[in-house]
Amino acid sequence: MSQPEFATQLTPSSETFSAKESARLAPYFSNADRSVVALMNLPEVVKGALFSRYSRSAKGVRRLFLDEFLDRAEIIEPLNVFETQDSTDTARAQAEAFYARVLSDYGDDSVGELGGAHIAFQEVSQIAAKTIEDHRLGLSFLEKSSRYVPFDDKVNGQYRYYRDQTLGASPYAAQVTQHLDGLFDAYTALLPRMMQYLEETHPIADIEFENALTGAVEKFARIDDAEFQRSAAFAYKQAVRAQACDLLRCFLPLATLTNVGVWGNGRALEYLLLHLLADPFAENRLLGRAGAHELANVIGPFIKRADDDRGKLLQAYLQTRRATQTKLARAFLDQTAPPVAHNPSAKALLARYDADAMDAVVGAILFSASALPKQTVAARVQTLSAAQKEEIVRAYVGERQNRRHKPGRAFEHARYEFDLLINIGEFRDLQRHRVVTPDRQAYTTAHGYDTSAQIEAVPAIRDAYHAAMARADRLYRALASDLPNEAQYVVPFGYRVRYNIELNLRELYHWCELRTTEQGHPDYRLTSQQMYYAVRAVQPALVAGMTFVNLEPNPPMSRLRAEMRSAKKRMSANLTARA
Ligand SMILES: Cc1cc2nc3c(=O)[nH]c(=O)nc-3n(C[C@H](O)[C@H](O)[C@H](O)COP(=O)(O)OP(=O)(O)OC[C@H]3O[C@@H](n4cnc5c(N)ncnc54)[C@H](O)[C@@H]3O)c2cc1C
Repeated sequence: MSQPEFATQLTPSSETFSAKESARLAPYFSNADRSVVALMNLPEVVKGALFSRYSRSAKGVRRLFLDEFLDRAEIIEPLNVFETQDSTDTARAQAEAFYARVLSDYGDDSVGELGGAHIAFQEVSQIAAKTIEDHRLGLSFLEKSSRYVPFDDKVNGQYRYYRDQTLGASPYAAQVTQHLDGLFDAYTALLPRMMQYLEETHPIADIEFENALTGAVEKFARIDDAEFQRSAAFAYKQAVRAQACDLLRCFLPLATLTNVGVWGNGRALEYLLLHLLADPFAENRLLGRAGAHELANVIGPFIKRADDDRGKLLQAYLQTRRATQTKLARAFLDQTAPPVAHNPSAKALLARYDADAMDAVVGAILFSASALPKQTVAARVQTLSAAQKEEIVRAYVGERQNRRHKPGRAFEHARYEFDLLINIGEFRDLQRHRVVTPDRQAYTTAHGYDTSAQIEAVPAIRDAYHAAMARADRLYRALASDLPNEAQYVVPFGYRVRYNIELNLRELYHWCELRTTEQGHPDYRLTSQQMYYAVRAVQPALVAGMTFVNLEPNPPMSRLRAEMRSAKKRMSANLTARA
């Protein structure tokens, strides 16, 4: 078989296989003769067990698989089972017993990271989605967009929101239903009105589009090519719809159902399930049980400790810790203190930062390129002038061509803590950053709500919005003393939440540059710009390299340019296909 051109430069693989062995390996390994090889078509638990054994063996992974795995009935049968989908409980149980033995003989906790699974949590509330996405290490998420998918459809005549059983059995059940239906009725009815407003204020005829074929930029009214016109009109429609969804999501309550796709390694998934099982919300505990049940079929041995005796002990510890925090806050804080008046230009307060961040960063830049102890490097850094330190940082950041050219780990030595007071809609977006230490308070109506120029500009929308927010506040307050958790389902995204984050300078670059891009949501663009300005005010030299932060005000049609780019690509692909 022909080899890729790099193959001769690799250290030759010391594993050799007969033709028969190579044929047996073929379904499971990407090659039989090179020293870099990928695993394929194996159940996650087999991969985990194989790698676990690999750490204690002098053999290569393919030889190990042939010698110790492939001839075992417990392995072969499930492989056939997985291939034919004709599952038998006995084969599965045998296989699991084998994996468990290998894992306990050769593994430690980190073996759980050697296999992974995809799981979809569908039709879950926003509260559940955020609880799931609150986990950071080892997990990747993708959630239904509130920008591209309108939440106006009904299933069996009912809007898509979570119906909590405790709320349903409470004396407030009818009020809760009326309130949630009312929010969705308003959202549904006002979506076309908001689109109409956007079309009136930014008429398509005045907007310039770029022809993918000729590169010519023309106002829509002057386009004569039918294909170009269709493509431009589609981009415009998409942008208007996305913008209207962005603006009206403030009506949506935390009960709104969403879908979350999760990819994670076994250890991270086990931890996620354990946390869900110990969560104060009944919905989350139920999702923990459901998730454990479904994943048992895929990576059973990796997640079984989420709810065994040891898992239950840890769940109890988490619950006690949470209850203790509540008691401590009650004992040591004056909860009746009046809230600080909201100032929209102070959504992001820099609560704490390292005063010696410059020295720490410069020290880290020099350390890894030297052979000196850190203390010696740090002492030398203290003797440098401010100009020299700035020069070092500037040179280290270098010429960044785009935001993906990120400064290196030295920037992780400077930390910042921000106190964010932001609406729940933007919190939902910003909460997705995993390289931060996040802390959120309960959702409430106590901090007031945000509005936007566009909502205020259309009297029908404005009046409906303020009336809906007032109703939400009344209902939340009525519920909160008896049902503090369940009450949170009725709070709409327009209300504010306190979100505290600590992040390092490297993540600050990523966050501010990503979240201020033109197509970002106007609300989090503003918050992220404020974060940048707050650091620039105290440590300008450390953010001087943040050249891709976008400090322009929100564009009137934030999605338009991105949609036009997609339209151009689509058009260009169509033209190529036709050519
Ligand atoms: C315009 C826009 C639209 C979006 N639309 C959607 C949407 O429709 N649905 C949706 O679910 N999300 C959406 N997102 C959110 C997006 O998917 C990410 O969740 C979000 O950007 C935060 O993740 P991050 O990787 O950028 O940053 P962080 O989580 O802060 O991580 C920082 C960096 O660390 C690395 N990193 C962190 N964790 C991992 C990991 N587990 N594996 C590998 N590398 C890692 C990556 O390099 C990453 O960029 C959108 C974001 C933007 C800006």
